[in-house]
Amino acid sequence: MEHSRTSFVLGHHQEQAKVVYCQAGEPTLLVTDLTPFHPQSHLWPDQPGDTGTVCWDGGEADVDPCRMGVISPEGELFVDLDIPVKRGAEGWAFVVVHPLAGRHELAVGSMVELRVDAKARHTLSLGHSGCHLIALALNRVLMPYWRKEVSERDALGQPDFDRLAIQSSRVEPLGSREQYRIGKSLRKKGVNGEALLAELPLIEQRVNAQLAAWLASGGEIRRSRTGEAIIDSRYWHCTLEGQELTIPCGGTHVGSLSELGRVSVQLSPCEEGFILLSRVSP
Ligand SMILES: [Zn+2]
Repeated sequence: MEHSRTSFVLGHHQEQAKVVYCQAGEPTLLVTDLTPFHPQSHLWPDQPGDTGTVCWDGGEADVDPCRMGVISPEGELFVDLDIPVKRGAEGWAFVVVHPLAGRHELAVGSMVELRVDAKARHTLSLGHSGCHLIALALNRVLMPYWRKEVSERDALGQPDFDRLAIQSSRVEPLGSREQYRIGKSLRKKGVNGEALLAELPLIEQRVNAQLAAWLASGGEIRRSRTGEAIIDSRYWHCTLEGQELTIPCGGTHVGSLSELGRVSVQLSPCEEGFILLSRVSP
């Protein structure tokens, strides 16, 4: 069995594909050789899976949010958190699992047409593109809160607070929710946690001002990948401050900063850190 080939990185919403695995049930779990559907990552579940429909000769079904899966050398499917191996494990195929509403028997080798809900995908792409820009803006605004040199840097060469402090990230339609924790190790690395948490309202204002300035530049957003298999690395590129930035990212995105319209964040304190809520108003 081969890894699923994917086309969401190319911005595709529709593909004709061949059934390679089907487990009838509630839901039915369908795997095809090629898919335009973006699956939620089992390792860092930031962007929810695409939804849509699948149709075949004589039938049609809704596709619930897609998940990652693997098929063992013996032909057994494991989905999401049940995935027992790392990518690259000999003989295991990493696949996109389409959960279909209802019980359907689809023959291996038969053809189906997969259609992503383009509108739902677009609102998630807006939320995810906003999310990357926010991480860079947050790192910029938090530069004065570092007391020591730090080796972890983001794509703009700034101390990477976002990567070091983030606990969870969830992309939502037209927004996102991130949780940051300033624990002992981050304070040891040099983050002035007291000042940072005391000045959240000021930081919020500065992040929003930075976002507005970058959005006004309208830089291009581009995607690239090392191959078409679902396990191949994928990247986000964005032109910002006259340079092209590259960030590893498995999600979906819009084609330009100007599509985002306005992006704003709201910061609120929580246990040992803060929650960041973002809103995109295209
Ligand atoms: Zn991303």
